[in-house]
Amino acid sequence: MKVCSSCEEQKPLEDFHKDSKGKEGRRASCKECDLYKKKQKYSLDTDYKEKVRKYQRDRSEHYRDLNKVWYKENREYVREKVRHRYHTIAETRASIKANSAQYRRSKVSAQPPCLGEADKQRIKDIYLLAEDLQLVSGQKYQVDHIIPLRGKKVCGLHVPWNLQVLPEDINLSKGNSYEDSWQSAPRRNKLPPLRLSLFRLPVRCSTW
Ligand SMILES: [Zn+2]
Repeated sequence: MKVCSSCEEQKPLEDFHKDSKGKEGRRASCKECDLYKKKQKYSLDTDYKEKVRKYQRDRSEHYRDLNKVWYKENREYVREKVRHRYHTIAETRASIKANSAQYRRSKVSAQPPCLGEADKQRIKDIYLLAEDLQLVSGQKYQVDHIIPLRGKKVCGLHVPWNLQVLPEDINLSKGNSYEDSWQSAPRRNKLPPLRLSLFRLPVRCSTW
């Protein structure tokens, strides 16, 4: 037991933070009083507040990066887990369905009303191309929005010149990020390298 120098209450040793310089290897004031003092300082001292906030920001960025790496390495495990939850937990199923419905809706709202029939057909062709590629190669392909529809900083459009066919694993690793490597959105009528290479493949899309 130890008496707190601030509240002067007698408390068990575990109620004091460790401090190698303090008596009995603990701080003079108890954890509760320490927290109270810190909170006071946080609300009064702007420098201290900024320091704490910076620390929290750095830490959250650090963990976000760690999580990203972990997710990349354990993607199959996570997907299996989500799949399992989808089939066993009604609540999860509902929220996943709602999310994908929202995504479908955002596709519609991301389509400018001026989009002509020819462009709408081009969009269909791109989706067909992804299916054809899958058939031909046996690998999974997805249609990707070069600038994501629901990006954090920018939102792309559901228009032919914002679409590209990507192997599924590359597309999933991209997520909703819009980074440097993806910023070279192909200009209208200018095909990105991937599509150019498809001329030799026996695909249905004669427009390519
Ligand atoms: Zn105390």
